Amino acid sequence: MSIFEGLQHIVRVDEPLAPHNTLQMGGPAKYFAEPTTIEELRGIVLECDRQQIGIRLLGSGTNVLISDEGYDGMVIHLSSAEFSKVVVLQNGLCCSGGCKLAHFVSTAVREGFSGPENLVGIPGTVGGALHGNASANGGDMGQWTLSAEVLTRSGEIIKRSASEMNFGYRQSSLSELVILTATFSFESADPVELTKRMQKLWISKKSSSPDIASHCAFLFKDPGGVTAASLIEDAGLKQAQNGLLRLDRKNPNYLIASDGASSHDAVSMINEIKESVMKKLGVELEIGIEIW
Ligand SMILES: Cc1cc2nc3c(=O)[nH]c(=O)nc-3n(C[C@H](O)[C@H](O)[C@H](O)COP(=O)(O)OP(=O)(O)OC[C@H]3O[C@@H](n4cnc5c(N)ncnc54)[C@H](O)[C@@H]3O)c2cc1C
Repeated sequence: MSIFEGLQHIVRVDEPLAPHNTLQMGGPAKYFAEPTTIEELRGIVLECDRQQIGIRLLGSGTNVLISDEGYDGMVIHLSSAEFSKVVVLQNGLCCSGGCKLAHFVSTAVREGFSGPENLVGIPGTVGGALHGNASANGGDMGQWTLSAEVLTRSGEIIKRSASEMNFGYRQSSLSELVILTATFSFESADPVELTKRMQKLWISKKSSSPDIASHCAFLFKDPGGVTAASLIEDAGLKQAQNGLLRLDRKNPNYLIASDGASSHDAVSMINEIKESVMKKLGVELEIGIEIW
């Protein structure tokens, strides 16, 4: 008998996690669920809580480095239509946590809501972007967020208002298990002008991103006043390589992994870069990618 009785249709066992993250690395999840309704999602969370099974929430996997051993618990993936909605409001949007950030940006631009065009080209979901307060070109998710509905590890649904949330550079106080939905408010602008600006920013993002869309991840947070990429370059590490892993030639703050690369090697390489930048330039780099 399955330990997830009644939920077998959405829970898989020993699911490889490599196809679910952009580095395409890491071992399997003991349990992997793709719920199709909030009730199913709550059912899984309550069952894991009852059986003391650890849970992790995976968005598009663009900001995680998963260990070679995988995860000995439940990984929840919000891939179904129920968790990918975007609703247009009078002055903003209400988005589900699993909605792609690209959908959030394009809807905002089409509706004449200014701000989100700054985030064009950032991969991932709205939930992942809110959790880590994704930012670019002076815009960040937190600055437009009015409220968020979250699901806790004990299965409770709570609404957080703007005054209950804090957003900083690449971080937020939204640490509950699941960001279910969030509402955003924006200034109005001409959709034609926003489209032009978005296209310009998209070209600039493409020119500073790896040519290979997959197999990559952004490594370090910019320490302020200077980019992590320029520090890595100044420390003479642009050509750094470790087995099947290397830094991107255009922007050395991206790690590029070839097929078969190991997470163990990636962690060693990240630590070596950190130590070398500290030793040569006296600057402490902070890792931006989450190591699972
Ligand atoms: C090529 C490339 C370019 C990038 N450029 C930028 C950039 O310009 N600016 C920037 O800020 N980042 C950038 N990133 C990083 C990354 O795209 C963002 O951090 C993105 O917002 C992560 O979203 P995700 O859905 O992939 O999250 P994941 O990687 O799946 O997860 C990251 C974290 O968010 C949590 N999470 C995900 N969804 C939810 C949810 N619904 N509820 C609660 N927690 C959740 C996960 O549990 C995990 O802790 C880039 C990455 C790549 C690969």
